[in-house]
Amino acid sequence: QDHLLRAPFLARLYGTKASLQKEDSTIDGNSFKGHDMLAPFTAGWQSSDLHPLIIDKSEGSYVYDINGKKYLDALAGLWCTALGGNEPRLVAAATKQLNKLPFYHSFWNRTTKPSLDLAKELLETFTASKMAKAFFTNSGSEANDTQVKLVWYYNNALGRPNKKKFIARAKSYHGSTLIAASLSGLPALHQKFDLPAQFVLHTDCPHYWRYHLPGWHLSYFSDPLNDITCINSHGNARDRSLHLLLSLSWGAGGVIPPPATYFDKIQAVVKKYDILFIADEVICAFGRLGTMYGCDKYNIKPDLVSVAKALSSAYMPIGAVMVSPEVSDVIHSQSSKLGTFSHGFTYSGHPVACAVAIEALKIYKERNILDHVNRIAPKFQDGVKAFADSPIIGEIRGTGLILGTEFVDNKSPNDPFPPEWGVGAYFGAQCEKDGMLVRVAGDNIMMSPPFIMSPEEVDELISKYGKALRSTEERVK
Ligand code: PLP
Repeated sequence: QDHLLRAPFLARLYGTKASLQKEDSTIDGNSFKGHDMLAPFTAGWQSSDLHPLIIDKSEGSYVYDINGKKYLDALAGLWCTALGGNEPRLVAAATKQLNKLPFYHSFWNRTTKPSLDLAKELLETFTASKMAKAFFTNSGSEANDTQVKLVWYYNNALGRPNKKKFIARAKSYHGSTLIAASLSGLPALHQKFDLPAQFVLHTDCPHYWRYHLPGWHLSYFSDPLNDITCINSHGNARDRSLHLLLSLSWGAGGVIPPPATYFDKIQAVVKKYDILFIADEVICAFGRLGTMYGCDKYNIKPDLVSVAKALSSAYMPIGAVMVSPEVSDVIHSQSSKLGTFSHGFTYSGHPVACAVAIEALKIYKERNILDHVNRIAPKFQDGVKAFADSPIIGEIRGTGLILGTEFVDNKSPNDPFPPEWGVGAYFGAQCEKDGMLVRVAGDNIMMSPPFIMSPEEVDELISKYGKALRSTEERVK
């Protein structure tokens, strides 16, 4: 089976030169071998034969590389280009704002109209619980870092200086700044970075398929009550120092949707122990799950919410934090005492990013984007899940426009393929060769297509998935 090691594009998918063959490096005619970037989530950037895939142009659900090759963008960039690649209204909104006022900040009670308008619009979109204020960031990571600072500020104001710890989940991804990486439950984000920070606790992820079999940590299998036990066991009855930050779909960790009653049960415990619930909606917000927010789908009433990505359909970098009236009031009185609220970024509420986000929210509403997502999502889910019988697939999971596939041997989570076989990478390489981009993380494949995908494009996605799967089955045999 070591032929799998020489899978075309393996090097690019893993970002390492180790197993790249000469013939593979010329497949797409890419003459750009290395580059000068310290490239994110890429290994071997110092080498001269990286052969990065260089994306040059986008159009609807497709992107094109510098050689003109067309790819169906099954991951919507990085789970973010909800309106696809060339939405003229977003370009027009950016251009108009760039011509009028490319920048002004929002410090010291100066601000801009787009940032005020976006805050109002955004708060109106969130109806699962009342949100009083929006704070703007440049990214999801900054939003989650801001959450931790706000919660500490809030507890200090309330005279609870010991209430400092956060619970996040194994396999969650909350970003890669210091705090967001600490919160993330992916060891690769911590290794050699001196993370996670001490105030973060990780609890297991309620993944039925993985944990219900003998040999795994049965105490944490998907019965939500066990997860609650886990929260309680981290809590100290006197200290009760916890807060909870939960991503709603565990996107980058392999797309692991929660069991049906999971969030109901978690919320009961959260209430009992006076734990603030932060919902990381960075992937789910604005329609990915077929509801405006993941909180609508799972009936979650959070105290704080993080958003980014589809907020501007990724046309401009922007994220936001929304806070409940209670948290907002406490922050307000504390900062009045101190004279200022000393947190913010040069680009918090950047007028061009805000103008684009306002337009994106308008488009979602005017085009009934939720209806469209709910029309194509069953086709997407059923079409891909029809391959679940494949002998190399353990589980295909997801909801709405997000799906994960996990490759294992014998259909068992106890039998992963040897990592050096690169089964997931081979599948990803076949997709790429055939003109489709998916996310590969080990033997997990993830897809989260743009909201605007047509039914025909969904058919194309399913057909390319099936073709790559058949080739991968052949290679594994
Ligand atoms: N939270 C979740 C759930 C995410 O998926 C991501 C990014 O993928 C982030 C936070 C971090 O966002 P950013 O990359 O914009 O910092």
